Amino acid sequence: ADAEELGFAVATVLADPGVDSVLVVYTPPFGSGLEASQAAIAKATRDTGKTVLACVVGHDGLIDERVPSYAFPEQAVAALARVAEHAAWRARPREQVEVKPRVDRKSARVVVAGDLLRHPEGRWLDHPTAARLLGHYGVHVAETRTADSPEAAAEAAAAMGLPAVLKATGPGLVHKSDVGGVVVGLATPQEVEQAYRDMAERIGPAMTGALVQRMAEAGTEIIIGGVQHETFGPLVMVGMGGVTAEILRDQAFRIPPLDLRDAAEMIGELRGAPLLYGYRGRPKADIEALAQQIVRVGALLDDLPEVAELDLNPVIATPSGALAVDVRIRVAPAPPRPSSYRRWMRRAR
Ligand code: ADP
Ligand code: MG
Repeated sequence: ADAEELGFAVATVLADPGVDSVLVVYTPPFGSGLEASQAAIAKATRDTGKTVLACVVGHDGLIDERVPSYAFPEQAVAALARVAEHAAWRARPREQVEVKPRVDRKSARVVVAGDLLRHPEGRWLDHPTAARLLGHYGVHVAETRTADSPEAAAEAAAAMGLPAVLKATGPGLVHKSDVGGVVVGLATPQEVEQAYRDMAERIGPAMTGALVQRMAEAGTEIIIGGVQHETFGPLVMVGMGGVTAEILRDQAFRIPPLDLRDAAEMIGELRGAPLLYGYRGRPKADIEALAQQIVRVGALLDDLPEVAELDLNPVIATPSGALAVDVRIRVAPAPPRPSSYRRWMRRAR
């Protein structure tokens, strides 16, 4: 077909009320050649309100600054599939998230702004501050006390209830268990005291104190993460945690705002999801509670662009709830949100 025939065919198909979107495929240099054919596609699609994509074989780019054009048909079809999925998501009635406990945005902002005043460059929050921030969004974090001596750790454990977990803290300590900085299942205050001494000896001056928690109920370890992405803005990740997390990278991503259904879908996308649903007689996790945590993390990232990175690893999902036992949050001066993101959010809301 020459350019005129190509344009006529595109216009005819677009005029059909039974057609929602059109993918024009053209292989140069046949017909009238690359430029004339692109011009014909541009002209035929200029006034349509329908979705048009093109595959001009071998040429990636935009036709007429408007029609996305892919070098291979598979790319065009994959992009169209994403558009359709996204349109369906946008068209869905938004579920009102049950806010119980309520989100306290104002206090959360005060925590972030206060920390940035003291640390203008931003930093990884200390545990109490991170837990407070998450608390304002109703994210469940295991009760945690800080201790700076073996005796104080033993006392904290006795006060919170046993068995206890002891974790080393220090400015440079990131992956605590890698350096022997996490000991679980401590049954008595004496064991806690001894564990602290052993840990201090093992780690040396890098350890400046410790966190004490009560052992959480057994369950499935999940990661809830988030970043402010330079293109997308806030991005929420849910993944399977535990020792295989880094190897399997079983993860699902979404752009907030999220409702409970979005969160449940993210969980459902994980290959490890059956572990939560009661696979082989395992106890069924409280999916609703886990979904709530995901929605709340999404709201936090969406409201607070200063939260640059967030990593709850693990959140332990059990039949009675979902509890974060390790939380890391980095705050930094907020970058301007990408304009494409802001435009998109205005339409989404
Ligand atoms: P890090 O990730 O820095 O090594 P974590 O705090 O995540 O340290 O602890 C490592 C592992 O120890 C967790 O993945 C979890 O299996 C276990 N753990 C940590 N805290 C608790 C807790 N309160 N109850 C039960 N298990 C815990
Ligand atoms: Mg961890």
